[in-house]
Order: sequence, then structure tokens, then C-alpha cells
Amino acid sequence: MFEDISQVVNFCEKEGIKIIDFKVVDLAGRWHHLSIPVERFNEKILEDGIGFDGSSYGFLSVEKSDMIFKPDIRTGFIDPFCEVPTLSMIADIYQITDKNERFQSDPRYIAEKAERYLKKTGIADEYIIGPEFEFYVFDHISFINKNNHQEVYIDTEQAYWNNGNKNYQNLGYKVEFQKGYHVDLPKDITNDFRSKITRQLEDLGISVKYHHHEVGGSGQVEIETQFGRLREMADKTLILKYVVKNLAIQEGKTVTFMPKPLYGEAGSGMHVHMQLFKDGKPVFYDEKGYSGLSETALYYIGGILKHAPALLAFTNPSTNSYKRLVPGYEAPVSICFATANRSSVIRIPGYAKKPEKKRFEFRPSDATANPYLAFSALLLAGIDGIINKIDPVKEGYGPYDVNIFDLPEEERNKIKSLPKSLDEAADALERDYEFLLAGGVFTKELITDHIRRIREDARKINIIPHPMEYRLYY
Ligand code: GLU
Ligand code: MG
Ligand code: MG
Repeated sequence: MFEDISQVVNFCEKEGIKIIDFKVVDLAGRWHHLSIPVERFNEKILEDGIGFDGSSYGFLSVEKSDMIFKPDIRTGFIDPFCEVPTLSMIADIYQITDKNERFQSDPRYIAEKAERYLKKTGIADEYIIGPEFEFYVFDHISFINKNNHQEVYIDTEQAYWNNGNKNYQNLGYKVEFQKGYHVDLPKDITNDFRSKITRQLEDLGISVKYHHHEVGGSGQVEIETQFGRLREMADKTLILKYVVKNLAIQEGKTVTFMPKPLYGEAGSGMHVHMQLFKDGKPVFYDEKGYSGLSETALYYIGGILKHAPALLAFTNPSTNSYKRLVPGYEAPVSICFATANRSSVIRIPGYAKKPEKKRFEFRPSDATANPYLAFSALLLAGIDGIINKIDPVKEGYGPYDVNIFDLPEEERNKIKSLPKSLDEAADALERDYEFLLAGGVFTKELITDHIRRIREDARKINIIPHPMEYRLYY
């Protein structure tokens, strides 16, 4: 939004801004924030930054936990959720040294380094991505206060009827489990909520492609934005989640992006569409290739499929992620590629035929990912595939243009499976991370911190007796 400090100052005066707020992303991909009175915002803040404790943000491998952040004024936006007029901006993390250099493991900086590295390889000069956002909308009061948690985990159907639906005997306008795709009013009770989100995003400069009800009958929805560049789309991902969650509270609702909130219902993914352009020309298009894809596109896919188990540690970094990646729910379990097949890791949309629209989507990812790290890791896996000419057909990754769940077991068993748990994904990343260090994009420290973090989450869940264990073993 702004190019220099005088623009910020003038804007604040004109709009009556009283507070400047800084958003800093942590290792897990969540914003932390800190605010100052507008009177304190000056050139010095941009030069010297503001000090904070980096270890509380998950960056444990730094020698000294004291760090600073400096706002990126280009990202300024009026915060729609603050009563006191507030201008928010995303900030970059710096290390306290003589020269105050960028912190090499700052997720935002990793995204910038990934974009630079792509240019340096000469493969392309633009990496365009389109994440898709699926999430569940629940009634705030009933879900949080009235539901017994065990019910939510185990007896989803009961939880569903309790979810703000007092007259549950009348099934008239209720959407069935797994039958919610594009349902219309009056069944689509969150339509206006999504329209409000859409208008708010448009006001913040995030253009929305469309919104709709998703398959999950218990309130699953989807919003898709226009595609954009890596760092920019990762910023927009955090802004979108911020808007969705805060608007929900204003509406007396709560939303969750967790990949599998309800047993027996569709999970929520964050599929990522990818494209490369060089001098404005689409690198992934070739009229004569499989599904209109160029050789480079296939190598890129080869790289992604080869590194998929390790990638999942970044694209699916929660224990809950692996409850979504199970057969039967349009979520992938097998490492393969195909055209228009929702059970594969890479799907090439059948409807995107024009050269400049040619693309494919990575389907495993979900919104528990740190978007900067997940989008960067996908690019690096693709670049590795191109550089090493990893042919996905020769490697046995497909194409499988059938529903993999319908294949005879023997045939299906030949296809490699994605990791089945967060621990398995962490194991895979421990074995396979060199491709992330290419071009100095990821750091060994960040990978170590990340593995430590996800292993700790896995441990927390593993040591708790699960309600279902009482049914099985009591
Ligand atoms: N909800 C599905 C998933 O878990 C995806 C449905 C779709 O293809 O949009 O990935
Ligand atoms: Mg969807
Ligand atoms: Mg999709």
C-alpha cells in the first residue's frame, strides 16, 4: 500500500489513525502482534525495528533469542476489526548483529529467497500459486460451550444435530453428511457470511474468485482467491484467515481450518495450484504433452511426488492432518498424478485448457501449514525435479486416470502411500531435506526447529488415551 514513510504519515493523518499494529509470523504460520500509538511511528522504527523474544515464536536454534522486527510498509491495511482506528502492517524479522541482517529463517524471507532462487536457475521468472481455502463454520455458543468434547470427537452425528440446531427433529432444510457441494439457499445458511467475507477481502485488495458451500454437510465452505506470487499469496493467506476468523466472531460463529474437525465428514484441504512463467510465457504448457503439460511440468511433478513424504512435514504439519488423508473423502492418500482425479496427490484440472491457465494442484496440503514454508517447499521440490529430470511416468507415479479407491487392492498396493502420521512425515523430512537447502532458501536450523515442533505436537497427542480406545479396549 505504501512506498515511503511520508505516505504512511499522511495517510494516518487523513484517516484519523490512532494505532499502528505490527503482525509478525511465527514458525507455525500464525501471526503475533504488537501495537504502538501513531505518534511513535517514525523513520527510526523502520531503521531500528522493535525488539522481541524470538524463542517464543518457535525459533529456538538462534543463539540469542533477542531479535527485532521491522515493518514492511507496503503491506499496510486498515484493520477492520479494531474499534480504535488502526493501521496494521506485516513485519520482517531481523537478527541483532552489527549490520542487523534479515533473519535467514524468517518464513517471509524464505519465501523471498525461494522466488529469487527460481529466477537464478533460469527455469522461470514467476511462480504463480493459487491456494484454495476450505473450512467449517459452526455456531459459536453451542459448539464451544454446550458440546461435550467427546461427542464432537466420537459421535459426530450427535454433535452435528447439537450444533446450533435446536429443532433437530425437522430434517427439512438440513444438508446431509457429505452432500453439501454447492447447495443453494435455504439450505446454504452461511451464504451471507461468505459474502461478507468476500466484500471484506475485496476491500483489503484480495480479489476473490468465488465462494460456495463445500461437500461437508455440517457447515463446510470454500473461498478461492485469484492467483498470485509466492510471498504475496502467503501474506494474503494469513490476512484471509484473520478476516474469516474475526468476522465469524462478529457474527456469533466460529470457524476452523483444522483439516478434520468431524469424523465421517469431508475434511478441509488447502490445495495449491501452481504455474511457472518465463518472460510472460507459461512454462507448463505443451499442446502435445500429457494433459497439455510440457516436459518441464512433468519433471516438476516428478520432483513433488518424489519429495512428497518430506513435503508433508511442511504442507500437513499437524496430527489432525493425517485424519483427513484417509480413503474415501476426496483427499489424497496415494503418491501419484492424474487428470481430474481427486484421489491423487497431483491433479491436473480438466477444465483449465488455455496455455496461460495450464496448471496442476497439489492436493494433500491443509491450512495448518505455514503458507510461506509450504509454498516455498513445493517450489523447491519442483525445481529439484526439473534440474534432475525426474520423470514421474518412469518413476511409476502414474498417470492414474481412475479412482484409486476403485482399483483392485493388488494394483493399489503398488502405488506408494503418503505418510500416515505426523511422526512419519517428520521421519521423511529427517531423511530428505537437501532439496530445501538449495540456493540457501531453507536453513538447517529452521528444519530442525520445525521437526522439533511437530514431534512435540505428535507426542502430546500420542500420550493421551483417545476416547475411542475406551470402546476398543476398556
Ligand atoms: N475437501 C476435500 C479435501 O479434503 C477436497 C474437495 C475438493 O476437491 O474441492 O481435500
Ligand atoms: Mg474444494
Ligand atoms: Mg481443488
